[in-house]
Amino acid sequence: MKILIINAGSSSVKYQFMDSDSGEVFAKGLCERIGIDGKLTHRVPGKPNYEADIPMPTHNEAIIAVLDIMVSPEYGVIKSVDEIDAVGHRVLHGGAEFTESCIIDDACIAAIERCIPFGPLHNPANLMGIRACRQVMPDKKQVAVFDTAFHMTMPPKAYIYAIPYEYYEKDGVRRYGFHGTSHRYIAGRTLKLLGRENNPEGTKIISCHLGNGSSLAAIKDGKVVDTSMGLGPLAGFPMGTRSGDIDPTIIEYLMGIYNMNIGEMLNILNKKSGVLGISGVSSDFRDLDAAAKDGNERAALALEKFCYEVTKYVGAYAAAMGGVDAIVMTAGIGENNGELRGRILGGLEYMGVKIDPELNAKRGDERLISAADSKVKVFVIPTNEELMIAMDTAELCK
Ligand code: ADP
Repeated sequence: MKILIINAGSSSVKYQFMDSDSGEVFAKGLCERIGIDGKLTHRVPGKPNYEADIPMPTHNEAIIAVLDIMVSPEYGVIKSVDEIDAVGHRVLHGGAEFTESCIIDDACIAAIERCIPFGPLHNPANLMGIRACRQVMPDKKQVAVFDTAFHMTMPPKAYIYAIPYEYYEKDGVRRYGFHGTSHRYIAGRTLKLLGRENNPEGTKIISCHLGNGSSLAAIKDGKVVDTSMGLGPLAGFPMGTRSGDIDPTIIEYLMGIYNMNIGEMLNILNKKSGVLGISGVSSDFRDLDAAAKDGNERAALALEKFCYEVTKYVGAYAAAMGGVDAIVMTAGIGENNGELRGRILGGLEYMGVKIDPELNAKRGDERLISAADSKVKVFVIPTNEELMIAMDTAELCK
C-alpha cells in the first residue's frame, strides 16, 4: 500500500510517502514555520529539491500544501490524492493505554488527549497533525503509531518508580520509554540477522538508539524488559541537549540560587544540557569530535561522559537479562560514528564483546562489526521508523 507518514510538531510537519511493502520512498519533505509564515521543502529521489514559501497559518494549510505538491505535474509523485491508501501518524505518548498502533477514531483521539500531561510538548502537536489530516482528507483511514507502545511489555520492577505507589495508581507515574518504533524495527531486523525471527524465545538484545535524543532498550524474547527513558524523554544518559538522569537535589539547589521557576529549570535540562551543556560547544557530535581533536578539553569530557554512561547502561542491561546475544547500534551517532561505537563497546571484552576495528571503520548499511570470535554479536543497523509506521498503517487499513 502507498502510505503517507506524518510527524507533526508544534510548528512543523515532516512527511514521507512510501510503499509499505517494498519500503520505497516516493517523496519526503518538511513544512516549517507553521503559524509564523510557512515554508515547504519537498524531495523526490532523483529530482532537484523543491522549496517554496507558502502561507501556513495552521497545520491544515501545511497538509494542503503537502497534498498539492504531491499531485503537482512537475514535482509530484501521484496523479491524484486517491492514490494515497492511508495516513500513518507518529505520536509521542500513548501512556499505558496503547500497547500497539491503532486506527484513529474519536476514542483514540480522546486517549491521546488524556496522555497530554505526559507529553505536553509533543502530543498536542501530534493531535494538530491528526486533526488537520482528518479535515483535509476526511475519507482516508488514519493510524496512530506510538513511541511508547513497544515498551509496554516491561515488567513492574522495571517501570515502577520508588515513590509512593498511589502516584502510579492514581496518576500514571511510571517508566514509559520512547523511540519504541525504532527499537521495534531494530529488534525485528536483529532477530532476522540472528536467524531467530520465528523463534525469539531466549534471545537477548540491547538496542542502542544514539541520535540527538538517545535511549537504550533491553529486549528479551523479542520483548522490551527495560529502557533508559522514563515518564518523559529527559531520562536516561546524557544526550545532545538533554541531561539524562540527574540527582533531583540539583533542581531545588539551582532554582534557589538563580531564582528560576520549574519551567526555566526544565528548559535548561531539556535544551541546554547534555553534551552541549558540558562542552559549551555544540550538541552535534561531529562538532564535538572536531573540537576535541583541536584540544578542547570540555568537548573531550562531554564525549567521554557520553561513552561512559552508555557503556554503563549496556552493562546494566546485560546484567538485567542475564547476558546478551547481540548489541545493535543505530540512529545518527550509532550508524555513523565508528570511533564512538569503539569507545562505548571497546572495554567490554570481559563480557564477550569484541569489536573488529576494520569492520567497525567501514561504512555501509546493515552490518556486523564484531570479531569472528566475539561471543556477543555487534551490529550496525540503520533504523527505519517510517517503514514501521507504514507497515502498521497498511496492516490496520487493509
Ligand atoms: P535525531 O534524533 O534528530 O533524529 P540523528 O539520529 O540524526 O538525530 O542524530 C544526530 C547525531 O548524529 C548528531 O550528533 C550527528 O553528529 C550524528 N551524525 C549524523 N550523521 C552523521 C554522519 N554522517 N557522521 C557522523 N555523525 C553523524
